[in-house]
Amino acid sequence: MEAIPKEIRNCPDKGCLEIDWNDGRTITYLYEDLRVLCPCADCRNQTVNQGEMIMGKEDVKITHIEPAGNYAIRIVFDDGHGTGLYTFTQMYDGEFNR
Ligand SMILES: [Zn+2]
Repeated sequence: MEAIPKEIRNCPDKGCLEIDWNDGRTITYLYEDLRVLCPCADCRNQTVNQGEMIMGKEDVKITHIEPAGNYAIRIVFDDGHGTGLYTFTQMYDGEFNR
């Protein structure tokens, strides 16, 4: 079964994104985790190839979420970063939860 979000809730008071999936699961994603584990090429290069964690994002917030095709969302953070595409498959598989 393909994991597809039924509802995406931005919860600034809790500092997280909540997604209701089409199989009935609800998964919570902390802003900080989403930012630190950003899948874009720049961030992956820093964290995977150079072995450096992205630090100091404890208070990061999401300013904007938009669909990217029918397979992902793009998340824009208030530190100005917004090039990561978060695919539904990776989100459902827990790749953005530490
Ligand atoms: Zn990034």
